[in-house]
Amino acid sequence: MGAERVTILGSTGSIGVSTLDVLARDPERFEVHALTAQSNVEKLAEQCLIHRPAVAVMVDPEAGAALRDLLRRAGVPTEVQVGVDALIEVVSGPEVDVVMAAIVGAAGLLPTLAAAEAGKRLLLANKEALVMSGALLIDAVARSGAKLLPVDSEHNAIFQCLPEGYTCGDAMRSCGAEGIWLTASGGPFRERALERFGEITPEEACAHPNWDMGRKISVDSATMMNKGLEVIEARWLFALEPNSIRVVLHPQSVVHSMVAYADGSVLAQLGNPDMRTPIAHTLAWPRRMDSGVSPLDLFAVGRLDFTPPSFERFPCLALAYHALETGGTATTILNAANEVAVEAFLERRIRFPAIAQGIAATLDAVTSSPADSLEGILAADAEARDYAGQWVHRYGSRP
Ligand code: NAD
Ligand code: MG
Repeated sequence: MGAERVTILGSTGSIGVSTLDVLARDPERFEVHALTAQSNVEKLAEQCLIHRPAVAVMVDPEAGAALRDLLRRAGVPTEVQVGVDALIEVVSGPEVDVVMAAIVGAAGLLPTLAAAEAGKRLLLANKEALVMSGALLIDAVARSGAKLLPVDSEHNAIFQCLPEGYTCGDAMRSCGAEGIWLTASGGPFRERALERFGEITPEEACAHPNWDMGRKISVDSATMMNKGLEVIEARWLFALEPNSIRVVLHPQSVVHSMVAYADGSVLAQLGNPDMRTPIAHTLAWPRRMDSGVSPLDLFAVGRLDFTPPSFERFPCLALAYHALETGGTATTILNAANEVAVEAFLERRIRFPAIAQGIAATLDAVTSSPADSLEGILAADAEARDYAGQWVHRYGSRP
């Protein structure tokens, strides 16, 4: 058997970098086919120098030209392509076996869907793609015979606690599993006085106590929209009813989630909070490989705490459950409004509590419709972005 050829969508991001770190631990088994990024020339050039992919894709054409130049001068034979179409190509061709979907946000939807349609082994970090497209992505996987493996640490933990032979997209209940506990650290503001939420800065919101991540998901963790998106992600990955998905605050981030079975058993997966563990699990599955993560020292951890989350403190979590109950494109609308609001917060155009307010206003204003076609989903995404953009603008120009 030859090496497995891997494409990483979003290789310059936090998950992309960790994936390359893990891949390099077994060069006999894995070969890097393509690396892709939005516009970070320096980082992608450095990755090409070390990992020698056949193809590098830069979505931004100017950055692509700069990368081509740099690589030529360095004598690196990697072929540079540009644009979104090139992303689709490097996930669907016959020269690719494995796709790590690690673009952040809605921008990842089309290439992720393309990898599913092409029947690849799809390692899914880009939760927004699944939140937007739900059944569509799951159906594409089932139709093509793609293998979907969850990278998000919670969903990866749940997958590890399900019996061998379980396939993502199938009803978890068919294996006697009744529900899940999704653990959440509670982010940096778990204990901050509520009346001081208006003063929160982007720097504080991006300083996560346990995980080192990209800026967007860091803000999502601070509002707990990340957990809300993960509730929706779990609904689709494990075919669960919303009321069998429970969120529990667990500040140590050592238990990465749990599955509750009909006989009263609760299975958990534990480990140090380091994304290289779930990444290595999905890469090596059904085998195991070294990930570089240090072994868990339970004596150093000492204790594990579990408390219920407050919807008053974290209104985004309630909004996500609400969108899931509404169904159709409501979760697409939720995701789009969140992306717009988080960007506005990072650019200091709105305050932290306004993120949830803008999403709530968008969910009220934009009507959900059936999420049964890509066109319908993209239209809902565009309409919600438009509305949320206007909302942010009005909010930002208040006296
Ligand atoms: P990041 O911001 O660090 O990296 C994002 C990557 O996506 C970069 O390589 C960037 O070039 C690329 N990208 C951004 N916009 C793009 C566009 N318009 N077109 C093409 N490429 C684009 O993000 P991250 O923290 O690595 O997260 C990536 C995904 O994984 C997110 O969906 C996130 O929710 C999920 N995830 C991340 C973590 C984590 O620990 N970082 C954990 C679980 C899930
Ligand atoms: Mg997670």
